[in-house]
Amino acid sequence: MLKVMAEMFPDAHCELLHANPFELTIAVLLSAQCTDETVNKVTVDLFAKYKSPHDYLAVPLNELEHDIRRIGLFRNKAKNIQALCQILIDKYDGEVPHLHEQLVELPGVGRKTANVVVSNAFDVPAIAVDTHVERVSKRLGICRWKDSVLEVEKTLMKKVPKADWTITHHRLIFFGRYHCKAQNPNCVACPLLSVCREGKKRIK
Ligand code: SF4
Repeated sequence: MLKVMAEMFPDAHCELLHANPFELTIAVLLSAQCTDETVNKVTVDLFAKYKSPHDYLAVPLNELEHDIRRIGLFRNKAKNIQALCQILIDKYDGEVPHLHEQLVELPGVGRKTANVVVSNAFDVPAIAVDTHVERVSKRLGICRWKDSVLEVEKTLMKKVPKADWTITHHRLIFFGRYHCKAQNPNCVACPLLSVCREGKKRIK
C-alpha cells in the first residue's frame, strides 16, 4: 500500500509554509480544525510581522486575535500563542525545544503537533495522526474502526519501519487529501481497491 502511495505522491511533504521550527510550531498550532490552505494565507502576513516570540508578546492580545481572525478558534489560539511564546523565552532561550516531551507541555501543542514539529523541524522520525491519516488507515484496514488516534499511531509505528515514519505520514496525508477524500473517495480509479475493505463495500 505504501509503495503505491509513494508512486502516486512522490513529492509528499508538509504543506504548511514555514522557514524555521518556530514558524512551523505556530503554523501547526493554527492548523487545528482548519485547512493548511487557510493557515498559509494567514501566515504570509503573520510571519512577516511576527518573527520571534518577543514580537508576539509585544502586541496586545486583541491585536494578535485580529491578525489571525480568519482562522477557526482564533481567540483561543491567540491566547495559546502568547502563552507559548512566554514559555519559550522563560525556559528555552526563545527557541523551540527539540524533545517531544517538552513540546507537548507547551500551550496549544498536543501529541500530533509535537510529532509534526519533531519530524519536520528536527528530523526525528514520527507519525502524526491527523484526520486524513486516521481515515485512510481505517478504510484500508491497516487499523480497526474503533481504534483511538493513539492506537492508530501505535499500529502504524509497529507496521512501518522507523526510518519511513515521517514520509509515510506525508504520503498518507496526500493520499487522503487528494485521492481518498472524506466525501466521495475515488474508489473506481483507486489502485488499492482490490485490497481495501471500504472500497469493496462502496463498489459493490
Ligand atoms: S478504494 Fe476507495 S476507500 Fe479504499 S483507499 Fe481507495 S479511494 Fe480510499
